[in-house]
Amino acid sequence: MHEMRDPQSIDFQANAPVMVKRISQKDNHTFTLEWSDGAICDYRLSALQRICPCAACVDENTGKRVLDANSVNEDVRATRIVNVGRYAMRIHFTQGCSSGIYSFDTLRTIGKKTICKQV
Ligand SMILES: [Zn+2]
Repeated sequence: MHEMRDPQSIDFQANAPVMVKRISQKDNHTFTLEWSDGAICDYRLSALQRICPCAACVDENTGKRVLDANSVNEDVRATRIVNVGRYAMRIHFTQGCSSGIYSFDTLRTIGKKTICKQV
């Protein structure tokens, strides 16, 4: 018997750091990242704002989230997404906190849990 493999599953054990190849807008509330290894992941903007890693949203000392997840509007949009260095990006939201810097590592981990597919 062969082990059943989930066709959606992706091997995230790559040695080389995975880079974002392309950012595109999927709809008003979702954008798509195309990774250098071929994986494609969708990200809902409200979901990313909820996990904003900035010092105002997360207590630096305790690591506890200060931001109330319920305060994030489900329909929040982005005005701009910009690269920060080579391994992170910053999202400018239409409302709420835009200070968070999202590392590709983090985005990759989130993508793994949501909608991600290999091409
Ligand atoms: Zn924040």
